[in-house]
Amino acid sequence: MQNKDTLADTTTSKQNLNPDQDQLPLVVGVDLGGTQIRTAVLRGPTLLSRVSLMTGKNPSPGRIIPRVYTAIQEALGKAGTTIEQIAGIGIAAPGPLDSKTGVVFTPPNMAEWDHVPLRDLFTEHFHIPIFVENDANAGGLGEHMFGAGRGCNNIVYLTISTGIGGGVIIDGKLLEGVSGTAGELGHMTIDWHGERCPCGNIGCLEYIASGTSIARQANEAIHAGEGIELLTFARTMLQHSTTVPNPSALPTHGHDPATVELRFPPEETDDTILGSETGDEQQEEHLHVNARTVALAAESGIPLARAIIQNAAEAIGVGLVNIIHCFNPEIIILGGGVTQMGRMLMEPAQRVVQERAMKVPREAVRIVQAQLGDNVGLVGAGALIYYYSKQ
Ligand SMILES: [Zn+2]
Repeated sequence: MQNKDTLADTTTSKQNLNPDQDQLPLVVGVDLGGTQIRTAVLRGPTLLSRVSLMTGKNPSPGRIIPRVYTAIQEALGKAGTTIEQIAGIGIAAPGPLDSKTGVVFTPPNMAEWDHVPLRDLFTEHFHIPIFVENDANAGGLGEHMFGAGRGCNNIVYLTISTGIGGGVIIDGKLLEGVSGTAGELGHMTIDWHGERCPCGNIGCLEYIASGTSIARQANEAIHAGEGIELLTFARTMLQHSTTVPNPSALPTHGHDPATVELRFPPEETDDTILGSETGDEQQEEHLHVNARTVALAAESGIPLARAIIQNAAEAIGVGLVNIIHCFNPEIIILGGGVTQMGRMLMEPAQRVVQERAMKVPREAVRIVQAQLGDNVGLVGAGALIYYYSKQ
């Protein structure tokens, strides 16, 4: 599943950056997540510094945006540079948003955000070029320029985590659509007799196979009395978990204050975390399992968990078939925490692709794992400056 650089790979695109990344200007990337906001000073894919803050329980723009300004200043300081040395700031934000105006509409995980003119606000504050893009599109650009999609001009990036997002690059150009909302791959219909997704459509891929959805299905089964074995497994995990929260762990169920975050060891990071405000009361009687717990339970053979993961995997397979038929990409890059489940998820998905996709586009496509990992949002945000300055 690795994309190896070959001579043929490096000669295909004018938009691909020269491998000599030392020549690239310094940029700032901002990854505006529902749980955590990260900022970094970058040169190409290389992070020179990184400063993160938790969005906390009140992520109103008036409270969050000044804190992002401060985080950027700290990141500049850590990198030993100043804003005058920076070519631009790229912001990867949850959609829907208009990348042409830099206005973020109403992201589902960001209460009180309603038509926030993010680009204008940042421009007034920093007086350098600012680019705002849907986080999945930014991630797709990052993988195109610096990750698994280097050398490829027809790419679909599919990120499966709390939600499911897509970034589609055709002939080296990001597919935006007339309103800037193209590539909402998580909201393609998989089950047209299915349940209604919050987006308004029915049977969306996201509503079946996202981490949130995997957790929801498990918790519904537990509440219906069908998940005794899974609940016992989750309780055992909770008793043996560490006490340090990992914000990038697979998502828990919604934002219910009674939700218990299961704890996992933190990833190795040199992050500075500003003002952590995670609620951490542990109320086992209100235990909600998250997608990661479901995955671990499936691995240990618990039938309910296996069935939920199998169903999600097949839905992803159907989604991949649709992507192959619609876009005829040379590469589909899978990112996001849910794809870390590996074979348990990917084997059933690949089987669906082999059984159902048309031969010519199926044989032309490679389905690979993303390479930028946890930093995809930051590298993608930084990539916006390199991408738009060439348009
Ligand atoms: Zn939907």
